[in-house]
Amino acid sequence: MLSKVVKDKLISIVSRENFDDAKTERLVYSYDSTPNLQAMPDAVVSPRNTKEVSEVVKVCNENKVPIVPRGSGTNLCGGTCPTEGGVVILFKHMNSIVDLDEENLTITVQPGVICLDVANAASAKGLFYPPDPGSMKIATIGGAINENSGGLRGLKYGVTRDYVIGLEVVMPNGDIVRTGGKLAKDVAGYDLTRLMVGSEGTLGIITEAILKLIPMPETKKTMLALYQDLEAAAKSVSKIIANKIIPVTLEFLDQPTIRVVEDYSQIGLPTDVQAVLLIEQDGSPEVVERDIEKIIKVCKQEGAVSVQVASSEEEALALAAARRTALSALARLKPTTVLEDATVPRSEIAKMVNAINNIADKYNLQICTFGHAGDGNLHPTCPTDARNHEEMERVEMAFAEIFERAVELGGTITGEHGVGVMKAPYLEWKLGKEGIAVMKAIKLALDPNNIMNPGKVFAKSYRKRVVVSGQGTVFAADDKKHMVVSK
Ligand SMILES: Cc1cc2nc3c(=O)[nH]c(=O)nc-3n(C[C@H](O)[C@H](O)[C@H](O)COP(=O)(O)OP(=O)(O)OC[C@H]3O[C@@H](n4cnc5c(N)ncnc54)[C@H](O)[C@@H]3O)c2cc1C
Repeated sequence: MLSKVVKDKLISIVSRENFDDAKTERLVYSYDSTPNLQAMPDAVVSPRNTKEVSEVVKVCNENKVPIVPRGSGTNLCGGTCPTEGGVVILFKHMNSIVDLDEENLTITVQPGVICLDVANAASAKGLFYPPDPGSMKIATIGGAINENSGGLRGLKYGVTRDYVIGLEVVMPNGDIVRTGGKLAKDVAGYDLTRLMVGSEGTLGIITEAILKLIPMPETKKTMLALYQDLEAAAKSVSKIIANKIIPVTLEFLDQPTIRVVEDYSQIGLPTDVQAVLLIEQDGSPEVVERDIEKIIKVCKQEGAVSVQVASSEEEALALAAARRTALSALARLKPTTVLEDATVPRSEIAKMVNAINNIADKYNLQICTFGHAGDGNLHPTCPTDARNHEEMERVEMAFAEIFERAVELGGTITGEHGVGVMKAPYLEWKLGKEGIAVMKAIKLALDPNNIMNPGKVFAKSYRKRVVVSGQGTVFAADDKKHMVVSK
């Protein structure tokens, strides 16, 4: 619980209607999209501007109260679960597009703006904001910047990091810092913009962002390549790129995923093949035509049993939408869906997909795999039931092995979903002790009281993901105020 002094100070900053410590409200913000993880905050505050954010942070810092900045809570790594209690900060009042600058090709936004609204505002002016996480209809730009979110267009256009060129940040001591700007070039000192991107709310609060826009591509074509052999599909991915073609989208769905997606979206996907590649290219009409022809040739050479090019805009949209609904479709199978994002160099995709299938067999689990094959970013997804504790233990062990294999293949434990609570136990596999020490030194220098989203990114010694209690996954076993329940 917050002390009366802290509570009164916070209310005097944000006003009574923007402070809530009722149990019902705290319950709403006790979990996010991560399955099987829940912990109560002490209060929820909604500042109206940067000055209020700064004042709230100063009060929390002086009183060592944890802060959890929260967008729409769609992260999948427990990033907004208040595992150490404290104050959840919402950005519902800070959700305006500040300006769209057609001369500098930038858009300046507050953190609560929805990602799709950024893309739509740009396209209304014939401009393009490429990052398109599957959650873009609800995720905020503040959350996307802090997770460095990717999407279906990452292969050609990069991820959120590649479009953030300036930030306004409230630091953990309440100082307001501006980084970068509407600049194509800026090498003045350390790149603080890049440091903040992907920092998962652990280094400061983003209160404004300047994003780079690019001209909208003239045209786009969409196609499907169908395979009876997983390896042939995986090989096609590397061969397309080895042929010096970078498609805008190069997505992979395995058979279990295709079946579930077709059942959900009913768009006529063939359910009798082992794997599907959804491929899109954009650009000028001549380039798109030439690239699609080359891609068709490569897919056939590598053993595609059928290649279909969408004949109309509607058909293309339906195919892309089917891929976007993969997670929602899989989520219908069982009460709990564990979605991960092990990532490998794209040349290792076939090995990784085989390893996932072998691990699923070993632990007697259903694991469906889809994802951004062009980026080597796979989403092994396990429909399960958090109430079945024995099965959950097998799920945890299977994913630990999947991450281990990804790192062995030169990959990483997360390509786009972030570390948060869920991947913290595995971060050292990727970075080594020395890498963790550098990150901890940065955290300590900027946030000596560890108030900014504590318990995220760095694993506590007692925190082990594979430990499952009678009621759910235990991450904060030493603190009774944290509810840990099954969802
Ligand atoms: C169905 C579904 C599909 C998804 N598809 C993708 C995908 O294709 N690609 C992808 O990369 N991710 C994907 N995700 C994960 C997630 O949606 C993204 O990471 C998203 O960008 C998070 O946005 P949010 O507003 O929900 O942030 P939240 O979940 O609320 O927060 C994410 C992190 O950002 C921090 N944060 C939020 N706002 C601020 C701020 N203003 N200042 C400082 N820290 C802040 C939080 O503390 C937390 O650590 C998907 C999730 C779902 C549920």
